[in-house]
Amino acid sequence: MRIKLGISSCLLGEKVRWDGGHKLDRFLADTLGQFVDYVPVCPEVECGLSIPREAMRLVGEPDSPRLVTSRTGKDHTERMLRWARRRVRELDKEDLCGFIFKSQSPSSGMERVKVYSEKGVPVKKGVGMFARVFMEHYPLLPVEEDGRLHDTRLRENFIERMFVFKRWRKMLEKRKNLGNLVDFHTRHKLLILAHSPKHHTMMGGLVAQGKQMTLQELFNKYEILLMEALALRTTPQKNVNALMHVMGYFKKQLASDEKQELLEILEIYRRKQIPLVAPITLMNHFIRKYQQPYLMDQYYLHPHPLELQLRNHV
Ligand code: SF4
Repeated sequence: MRIKLGISSCLLGEKVRWDGGHKLDRFLADTLGQFVDYVPVCPEVECGLSIPREAMRLVGEPDSPRLVTSRTGKDHTERMLRWARRRVRELDKEDLCGFIFKSQSPSSGMERVKVYSEKGVPVKKGVGMFARVFMEHYPLLPVEEDGRLHDTRLRENFIERMFVFKRWRKMLEKRKNLGNLVDFHTRHKLLILAHSPKHHTMMGGLVAQGKQMTLQELFNKYEILLMEALALRTTPQKNVNALMHVMGYFKKQLASDEKQELLEILEIYRRKQIPLVAPITLMNHFIRKYQQPYLMDQYYLHPHPLELQLRNHV
């Protein structure tokens, strides 16, 4: 399943920065790059500025700053906004499942970008000009920054959302009907539970009442809840809860020493002494051994390629 992901061009090593340099990120380019097709975007170059060029910064109100050059004060706000509004509409045809922004950039930064007051005092409350237009255009799309993706938990969360979004899109390509939604929900139930028990209950209720609203309304509400749920991070406690749920499906078939082994490994994981991949691997072993088709179909137990090693951290 190839996934298309937007990315700030300089993160792939393209020499597009103001000083003619790049910000190559090896994990994004080499590791994640094996599983996604990137759509690189450099707002400053694509809106017509040269390489090299004068550095820029955000100035004014954090909610609606202007983009001006740092030394000569040339204002590029209108040029950038005009281009950004056109570019996000062009990106509609790319079917993106997420975007990775370059942090701290006045054009591409997703959050905490410096905005300077008239007196030249910075506050870290801004959003890059293109990033803001992009996120307003695609409010539900998973987005992250290069720096935050070095945090193993944020990385796992972002990549997981990206894969779910892709599956959601694929489901929408089929016919939009209640049966397809029920199937999608059934296979994602445990994943949703591991992120948010509250959303797990709400989404189950929504699907159960599906016939009482139009399909459009149902799908819209479900999509919002789905992306909201997955944006909440899992914790060892939430994962243990989901895995106990898994165990509940075949605990009668487990021999007492097998049950003991599972409970012990869950407890060691809960104490953060081993990574999530350990109990998940053991659980998958018993699921195969005791032939549990419902559990075999659960994306929670194999949400993304093992090669990415996203569940290997403690
Ligand atoms: S941060 Fe954004 S605008 Fe700056 S060089 Fe990278 S892609 Fe281009």
